[in-house]
Amino acid sequence: MADKYRICVPTVARKEVLREMHDAPSSGHFCVDRTYIRAAQDFTWKSLRQDVEWFVSTCGPCQRNKAYTARARGIPNPLEAPDGRWQAVALDLVSLAESAAGYDAAVVFTNMFTKQIFCAPVRMKGTTAEKVAELFILHVFRTQGLPKVLLSDRDSRRQVYFRLLGATL
Ligand SMILES: [Zn+2]
Repeated sequence: MADKYRICVPTVARKEVLREMHDAPSSGHFCVDRTYIRAAQDFTWKSLRQDVEWFVSTCGPCQRNKAYTARARGIPNPLEAPDGRWQAVALDLVSLAESAAGYDAAVVFTNMFTKQIFCAPVRMKGTTAEKVAELFILHVFRTQGLPKVLLSDRDSRRQVYFRLLGATL
């Protein structure tokens, strides 16, 4: 594995890769270790192992198979949101190759509990705090209300986005 090139996968495409490695017809719902080994042969990113663990632990068919056993043992699911709403949300601004329509980035809002995502294509240059706030309201706030927690890194621009939404950082 060490002398082979691996693809560094951007955030927006990771779920697709994990799905392919775990539950595509050729995969058949592999366990965490097997899914990880398969993914790590061709792909890489910092949180790959954690993301595989999360993906498998939230996979519907796998959950249904294990639900009985887990309940019997009384193991709580740490990823379970109390009511499934968007209580903790992360924001990513990802640069992409420019599309025919002139978009060269995507704003990605991630529900940290379910990892459900909303993506909106944007032009990096025109992505002002107001624009991000508008997308947030359109994609998240309108249906989910204001989350309790908004996760941001130290990137000052993102902090501005969140401050505009009235969040305490
Ligand atoms: Zn599965």
